Amino acid sequence: MDTTASKQAIKGGEFLIKETLATDVFIPEQFSEEQLMIAQSCKDFLAQEIWPNLERIDSQEEGLTVNLLNKAADLGLLGLSVPEKLGGFEKDFVTGMLATEIMGSGHSFAVSISAHTGIGTLPILYYGNEAQKSKYIPKLVSGEWKACYCLTEPGSGSDANSGKTKATLTADGKHYLLNGQKMWITNGGFADVFTVFAKIDTDENLSAFIVEKSFGGITLNPEEHKMGIKGSSTRQVFFNDCKVPVENLLSERQNGFKIAVNILNIGRIKLAAAAIGASKVTSSKSIQYAAERKQFDRPIAKYGAIRFKLAEQAIRIYSAESALYRVTQNIEDAIEALSKAGMEHSKSILKGVEQFAPEAAIMKVNGSETLDYVVDEGVQVYGGMGYSAEAPMERAYRDSRINRIFEGTNEINRMLIVDMLLRRALKGELDLAGPAQKITAELMSVPDFSDSDTQPFATEKKYIRNFKKAILMTAGAAVQKLMMELSKEQEILMNLADMLIDLYISESLQLRVEKLAGIKGEDRVKEQLDIMRIVLNDAADRIYKNGKDAITSFAEGDELRIMLMGLKRFTKTEPFNVKEARRRVAAKLLSENKYCF
Ligand SMILES: Cc1cc2nc3c(=O)[nH]c(=O)nc-3n(C[C@H](O)[C@H](O)[C@H](O)COP(=O)(O)OP(=O)(O)OC[C@H]3O[C@@H](n4cnc5c(N)ncnc54)[C@H](O)[C@@H]3O)c2cc1C
Repeated sequence: MDTTASKQAIKGGEFLIKETLATDVFIPEQFSEEQLMIAQSCKDFLAQEIWPNLERIDSQEEGLTVNLLNKAADLGLLGLSVPEKLGGFEKDFVTGMLATEIMGSGHSFAVSISAHTGIGTLPILYYGNEAQKSKYIPKLVSGEWKACYCLTEPGSGSDANSGKTKATLTADGKHYLLNGQKMWITNGGFADVFTVFAKIDTDENLSAFIVEKSFGGITLNPEEHKMGIKGSSTRQVFFNDCKVPVENLLSERQNGFKIAVNILNIGRIKLAAAAIGASKVTSSKSIQYAAERKQFDRPIAKYGAIRFKLAEQAIRIYSAESALYRVTQNIEDAIEALSKAGMEHSKSILKGVEQFAPEAAIMKVNGSETLDYVVDEGVQVYGGMGYSAEAPMERAYRDSRINRIFEGTNEINRMLIVDMLLRRALKGELDLAGPAQKITAELMSVPDFSDSDTQPFATEKKYIRNFKKAILMTAGAAVQKLMMELSKEQEILMNLADMLIDLYISESLQLRVEKLAGIKGEDRVKEQLDIMRIVLNDAADRIYKNGKDAITSFAEGDELRIMLMGLKRFTKTEPFNVKEARRRVAAKLLSENKYCF
């Protein structure tokens, strides 16, 4: 793996103001033998245990999901990232991400297992004291106990800190009595251990508690009837004088919201990984169906309209994947650096992930929307069969949709992307003001249209540099004009978030392709080069549109005209025949008869 000491350390959010070298990014083509072996075990598990049983899982056959979780535990899949001393395999962050990606095509089961290993296990693993960890983690890794995470309430969803569930200390000071109602709790129907967020007495902020079902005072509503992921258990959970020993307070009093947020940061990036895994399988099925299905005497794969869809599915997947493993390795490097500096391992994981929280939010939005696109076009490629429950696309379509809602809705995540970057700038952690001012000066100067840079990928790198300028110019002006009011102008925040997403994804893709071309030679990555050029072209147009929508909503007169001219300059790309490029990408997919990048 590429973790050389000479690598330029990049901090979270710095992608907006710094250039990254292609040699410094990790690309999926560099997975180690061991990582690929673990990925293969996950694939085998899906093929043997999950895919043949999707109907049974979706009908919530009694005991089936629990049984499958136990089988996953036997293979070590519930403890991949858990330290060995707690019964796990202590694999690094990248390996855990790859396993999550593969398991992502497990439909409802993917949700059950990721709720157990993620939001179910991680609060205890990362915030528990030694006694709590040694009591609960080995049992969660072995599958003896199953876990869930109880944050959401009927009146408290996106506004998670506003929950009404109460914890009251008993007169003898030995227990908290929990009272309240939680909603949409994944794995609620069979969980033995619940991480419950509640406010102690009149506290302003949430605290977190480890609650065992055996404590009593817990009742469940019947299973929710859902649009998709029908096989995952989703319950309302009621706490009625549930007696929780004081030693089961997790971390410190009023630290619950921080725990919830940090666990969600990890959840967001893992959600993107799972969405990419599901997207790849859906892309392969679309390719295979298009090659087989004939209309007007020809396979539908011969038609440009269908080829476009197959190519575009792969283009979005490959781009999202490039960003996923770039940030995953960045987090891994940050964790390693913090651990080396003496920080306790679990704390360094949280800190490492927190540093890259803006990127995690970008990944959540992009991953979930990539999957939604891929399944939607998958249904379309299948035509009437796409709408039939007899064929795989109908389930894929329904199961995808939840991803834009949980782990923070995509609206909340879009706002977070901008908010986190601006806060870091305000705190002096990220110098946005300096680069933004330089761009204002550049706007007043004569544009430099010379193309003297003959380095490989010089044109593409210039596009990326210009995208950064477009964003810094728009965001800088928005902050200056609107000041504190900006947080209320959500339409502008959405524009800025989309510009940032386009930048991060297209830059990650460009770096991956450059690195890959360096390793294999440009001749052997022709389709990847096509993908990169298509994405850069499309990203430029979207960045222009989002920038224009933002700027016209707060600027006027000369200022408006100058900024729109700047925006045009910063999103200018050379004409490129995207139709032919997509055809070449589709031809490669069809020749391999599967997603192959
Ligand atoms: C199948 C499923 C499984 C789940 N599993 C769990 C689980 O295991 N544990 C758990 O604790 N929770 C779980 N959830 C809850 C999930 O995290 C919430 O549904 C989600 O956070 C959104 O909250 P909400 O449903 O109350 O929507 P709301 O917060 O009411 O949002 C409704 C709409 O308003 C938008 N909105 C809200 N606030 C703002 C704002 N300030 N500005 C702009 N737009 C806004 C949202 O983006 C959304 O589009 C699950 C949900 C589902 C459906």
